Amino acid sequence: MNCKHFINGEFMNSLNEKTFENVNPANQQRLGWVAEGGKEEIDLAVAAAKKALKGPWSKITTNDRIAVIRRIGDIILERQDELARLETLDTGKPLSLSSHLDIPRAAYNFHFFADYLRGIGTEAYQTDDQAINYAIRRPVGVVGLINPWNLPLLLLTWKLAPCLAAGNTCVIKPAELTPMTATVLGEICQQAGVPDGVVNIVHGFGPDSAGAVLTEHPDVNAISFTGETTTGKIIMQAASKTLKRLSYELGGKNPNLIFADSNLDEVIETTMRSSFVNQGEVCMCGSRIYVERSAYEEFLEKFVAKTKQMVVGDPFDPKTNVGALISEEHFERVTSYIKLAVEEGGTILTGGQRPEGLEHGYFLEPTIIVGLDRNCRVVQEEIFGPVVTVIPFDSEEEVIEQVNDTHYGLSASLWTNDLRRAHRVAGQIEAGIIWVNTWFLRDLRTPFGGMKQSGIGREGGIHSFEFFSELSNICIKL
Ligand code: NAD
Repeated sequence: MNCKHFINGEFMNSLNEKTFENVNPANQQRLGWVAEGGKEEIDLAVAAAKKALKGPWSKITTNDRIAVIRRIGDIILERQDELARLETLDTGKPLSLSSHLDIPRAAYNFHFFADYLRGIGTEAYQTDDQAINYAIRRPVGVVGLINPWNLPLLLLTWKLAPCLAAGNTCVIKPAELTPMTATVLGEICQQAGVPDGVVNIVHGFGPDSAGAVLTEHPDVNAISFTGETTTGKIIMQAASKTLKRLSYELGGKNPNLIFADSNLDEVIETTMRSSFVNQGEVCMCGSRIYVERSAYEEFLEKFVAKTKQMVVGDPFDPKTNVGALISEEHFERVTSYIKLAVEEGGTILTGGQRPEGLEHGYFLEPTIIVGLDRNCRVVQEEIFGPVVTVIPFDSEEEVIEQVNDTHYGLSASLWTNDLRRAHRVAGQIEAGIIWVNTWFLRDLRTPFGGMKQSGIGREGGIHSFEFFSELSNICIKL
């Protein structure tokens, strides 16, 4: 599939006809070309989005807006098989995951925010007998939505649905490595009745290119960004010139704390997922595993045995658990951390290699490392691959201190059957999302996001809505 930009309701090439190649990470074969946007295309897209702010989208009734948003979700479900296939070709993730998580959740994001919009209100206060205040909610304006490659459609729709629900228009910059489902989404929005110019998509790269131009553009009022912490810092500088509103979902180095009183079989079943699902390329993956010393040996024995049974390979094979990493560059980066782990004194208990017979894709065995000190780079830095470290601990105080000893603060998973300890420890972990005896269980009404250098702001329910709306307080003297 070739991917064109989608600007003002039309699919188009770049003005200078520039393109780049899209490659399947599971076999290194070419999937097609992608239009490479730059300043001209971003200017066109922002102008279209700005104009559309005053067009039919601003006059539509709430009921009609709900119907359009709901219809986008419906069409995603109607085209679920096609979208899941494209997502797997683009990312290298198992088709079972695209079909059961990515695409249904993308549809649900629209259904959820369509429902949510019906119940949304504002505040009103009476100031003694002098005045009455009430707030009105309006769109922020033109919003830039910038996305990563790991959950392409799921994360894009997690931004786009509330952005539209709040009445904004937008310019989307999909990840350059995964442009296909975003392109189809342009078509779906049009089919669902989104007016021209409300949703625009410009493909291309980040630094010194389409992404950077979008974050500096004077007519863009807000940027919702998901990606690396280092990119977030660069975008903040660019956006500061026009003081744009920012929402950030950034990197993580998430801990799993496992106390000996927990049910180890249940822990291991979930830890297999939290470690290796989507090749470990999920921001929520728990890559630092801390196990209470009395359960450490048993945990490791069972965890390693199960990990060795994981099937790495063809993403389209239903038996596959772990697909391909996203790109050669990322493969090199992840494997460099495995080499570093050995240099830092670690021992690889399983994995660490490209599996035999899989020379043509970026495949890597799920990898478990032990024996590393808490200050090692492998324990401190985000790897974003199927690589975890396991460290024993002796006391609650000690593990809380270790868990918090990082500049990240996205999520954590805590395992214990002691109710008091669960409350006590959860309240001390510096993370935006803390799961107790589970992982990645999501209710879209709840706040989602990270503290410290893992993010700014929260997404989900009212939190998404607050980011995508401006409130004006109207004070009337009585
Ligand atoms: P990335 O930061 O390299 O790229 C993300 C997007 O930003 C891409 O579309 C890219 O083109 C664009 N970009 C890059 N530089 C830019 C610039 N200077 N100006 C404007 N845009 C720019 O991230 P990635 O490698 O695509 O994704 C992996 C990262 O995303 C990991 O750190 C992961 O933890 C994080 N992530 C976080 C969450 C979350 O919810 N917190 C979810 C998914 C991924």
